[in-house]
Amino acid sequence: MKDEVTAMLDLIRARGICDPAVLGALERVPRRHFVPPDLDRRACGDYPLPIGHGQTISQPYIVALMTLALELERGDRVLEIGTGSGYQAAILAEMGMEVYTLEVVPALYEEAQARLVALGYTQIHCRLGDGHAGWLEYAPYQGIIATAAPEEIPPSLVEQLAEGGRLIIPVGPRNGYQTLWKVIKVAGRLVKIDLGGVAFVPFV
Ligand code: SAH
Repeated sequence: MKDEVTAMLDLIRARGICDPAVLGALERVPRRHFVPPDLDRRACGDYPLPIGHGQTISQPYIVALMTLALELERGDRVLEIGTGSGYQAAILAEMGMEVYTLEVVPALYEEAQARLVALGYTQIHCRLGDGHAGWLEYAPYQGIIATAAPEEIPPSLVEQLAEGGRLIIPVGPRNGYQTLWKVIKVAGRLVKIDLGGVAFVPFV
């Protein structure tokens, strides 16, 4: 197990991510707890894996890239759209964030919530709901991360972003590749940075 984690971290480092906080979280969160039991031997491979209901857990490199791009500090509030397995939420919690995460598929929401409670993550707050509307109650967020791709950026997410906050979101057509955007709110205006091409499941 340990060797697999080391290999996973080496691959991420080789692709240019060396941030100790991000790598430390990836090292501490056991990815095999977040994939179906029959796939646990492939849990640390650098590719997405199916988690049921037509959904996937993102590939470790992409998790690292998006986490880094959020530029969060301990204690920050972060909103995630697409809880899925709960892995990305666990990485953010491990780094000291207060995590609010929305999932639209009831079975995935229930499984992820039970898993995160069992693993002892008290600073992750799960809710069943549609990410298009965000989660107004705890806004504004220093960071928002979408792990499913809408065709356009939902306006609510921009509204719920703090001044200076970062929104990391894949945007593009339902069938095909998307562009991963980093959107920074600066003095009420939006600065958009293209982080490259990605392939996420579409927003439901
Ligand atoms: N972050 C997840 C990966 C999730 S895959 C992990 O670490 O495992 C994307 C998830 O987004 C799926 O679980 C999917 O059901 C969810 N999703 C898709 N559209 C959504 C929407 N409109 N609102 C909330 N969740 C959505």
